[in-house]
Amino acid sequence: MTNTTSPADLADEIVQRLRTVVGPGRAHLHEPHFAGNERDYVLECIESTFISSVSPFVQRFEDLLREITGAEHAVAVVNGTAALHLSLVLAGVEPGDEVLMPSLSFVATANAAAHAGAVPHFVDVDTRTLGLDPMALREHLEQSTSRVDGVCVNQDTGRVIRAVVPMHTFGHAVQVDALVEVADDFGLVVVEDAAEALGTTYKGRHAGTFGALGTLSFNGNKTVTTGGGGAILTNDGALAARARHLSTTAKVPHRWAFVHDSVGWNYRMPGLNAALGCAQLEQLDGFVQRKRTLVDRYRSAFEGFSAGVIREEEPECHSNYWLQALILEPSAALHRDMILEEVNDAGLGVRPCWTLLHRLAPFSDAPRASTPVSESLERRIINLPSSVFLTPEPVG
Ligand SMILES: *Cc1c(COP(=O)(O)O)cnc(C)c1O
Repeated sequence: MTNTTSPADLADEIVQRLRTVVGPGRAHLHEPHFAGNERDYVLECIESTFISSVSPFVQRFEDLLREITGAEHAVAVVNGTAALHLSLVLAGVEPGDEVLMPSLSFVATANAAAHAGAVPHFVDVDTRTLGLDPMALREHLEQSTSRVDGVCVNQDTGRVIRAVVPMHTFGHAVQVDALVEVADDFGLVVVEDAAEALGTTYKGRHAGTFGALGTLSFNGNKTVTTGGGGAILTNDGALAARARHLSTTAKVPHRWAFVHDSVGWNYRMPGLNAALGCAQLEQLDGFVQRKRTLVDRYRSAFEGFSAGVIREEEPECHSNYWLQALILEPSAALHRDMILEEVNDAGLGVRPCWTLLHRLAPFSDAPRASTPVSESLERRIINLPSSVFLTPEPVG
């Protein structure tokens, strides 16, 4: 921002530039798009009367997920938080353990650890990927942990650090191969929070398939939605079987007997949701293509803009561009709240990124590394209207 531009002028300029992309009407941050077989499949599911998780649509949904992601196993569950919770349990996280994760994430990442009885332990992110910084993670672990009986122990708290949860922010892949290396060196299990990254690849491999387990979300605002839903991805057959069992009340299969061999959860995805999801997954390629066209248009619209840049994917990543982002210059970031007010008043659903998790009341006492990059980004990120239908359907 130049010294002569007032914050109001700046907000005005952002509105004008956004309008060249989204047109004159209202535009929300992210709305679902139902242009395929959604109605047909949901009706078919209802007419079958098998609307619960025993519906064949659930298996079909899981098969499609395996095809899309290349994961050997996919287990559909009720939402992304449940997928993460169960994955952390399967990763061996026990009450009183710590779980490393970025402070720049949606609250679900930390909630899942807390639901497993663990304590989130926050680490800084990288300026380019907006996800966990492998070098900062390694440095932090070298300085603050020791190996005791083969496990990684936080020297400050005395607690075992069991797992690390990289998150692929707004659909852009984190440097997940480097993070897996750090995790291996310190004896940590990797559980990827790929909630935002369906359709995203890193070095040609789908997000969520690098760690022991990966999780997806199909919440109403995600690239593909089932209303509410999630999935666990893994290449480990035993983990997948355990995920199915624990998410189905740990019931031992039998024609009539109610025998449950663990404290399980009722976490399986119902067929109604899976039916919607099958229709959505059929359109994933087109959705991603249109989101990638949208970033091209935002890039052109913000050419020569002095107060910020449109976020782009890194060369190793093929992003789904779930949420588009404008990263403000630090001087413009001082006026972020005013920009948010004015642009929303103009009918354009822009949003800040999340409040850093370590500043939320339930996690304010959680252990953490220093997080300067997260703190800077928190003030500079503005997410832009990102719905699939903002760009026309590709021809042919
Ligand atoms: C959406 C999301 C989740 C899971 O959310 P649900 O609403 O429970 O499906 C988890 N982590 C991140 C980063 C998310 O964006």
